[in-house]
Amino acid sequence: MDYLTDIWENLLSVFRLMEPIDYIDILLLAWLIYKGIKIFRETRAMQLVKGILLVAVLFFLVNQFELKAMRVIIDTFLNVGIVAILIVFQPELRRVLEKVGHTKVKGIARNFDSNDSAYNEAVACIDAVCSACEQLSLTATGALIVFERETKLGEQIDTGTVLNAIPSPEVFGNIFFPNTPLHDGAVIIRDSRIYAAGCFLPKPQKEELISKSLGSRHRAAIGISEVSDAITVVVSEETGTISVSEDGSLTRFYNRDSLHKLLEEKLLPEKAEPKKPRKKKEKKASRKASEKEAAEQ
Ligand code: ATP
Ligand code: MG
Repeated sequence: MDYLTDIWENLLSVFRLMEPIDYIDILLLAWLIYKGIKIFRETRAMQLVKGILLVAVLFFLVNQFELKAMRVIIDTFLNVGIVAILIVFQPELRRVLEKVGHTKVKGIARNFDSNDSAYNEAVACIDAVCSACEQLSLTATGALIVFERETKLGEQIDTGTVLNAIPSPEVFGNIFFPNTPLHDGAVIIRDSRIYAAGCFLPKPQKEELISKSLGSRHRAAIGISEVSDAITVVVSEETGTISVSEDGSLTRFYNRDSLHKLLEEKLLPEKAEPKKPRKKKEKKASRKASEKEAAEQ
């Protein structure tokens, strides 16, 4: 019991010594650790962290109890292990670093406000994609449409054919029409244009966790959302179902309206307040005021 009281007393004295800035310091550290764990948990890098912890424990035991044979193994591991870890976990480390440096910016990789022509192009692009998906869904024509955002998809674009076309339901209809040269693979939308078609997307990391009812088209949509911040729309050839992937997960059963709402939310920046047209009376009053000012001067 005395032992517990001692701990409590010690804790209290630590708290008494702490300045407000120390609380901020601790909160920041806690936030950093939480974010770090979250990022690592989402990737295979968690295994890497577990491995490093295991080696650290072994290292401690070897030093503590002077285990000679183990020491040779641990030393050898430490000599070559770091390079081996960097090579084996290169994709994971790259993804983690990408996530750390990645800020969530809305918009189709452009900054624009509601008066900008780029904004109107983005609205027209979303309209075209939604109308196209509605039609493709009715005719159960398979489609895969990726909206590029901050992460550049040059690697995937290189596997397809660059079109740089203005989006319209007709163009999408043509691209995804069965047995035409570009119908296989994905369309990539860049800066509100159909930038490329027939693009090959990466497979998801944990295929075994994905429902068996989802084939390679839906898996490709999940795959690209794991390695980028892209939003991908899929139309199923088998059922006509419209689905959307983002951040490694797939949401399903959209119709034109719900898809439109989602894409607007994800791809357009907050609409700026449109300038209100000034009423005639206000205009007259302000003209009078400036005339008065001029007369006084
Ligand atoms: P659906 O419901 O439309 O049948 P699905 O998820 O069952 O879709 P599949 O039937 O396997 O998928 O669809 C195959 C088509 O998906 C291919 O012909 C190709 O157009 C597209 N596809 C498959 N894998 C990829 C990939 N990695 N990248 C781009 N497109 C792909
Ligand atoms: Mg299928």
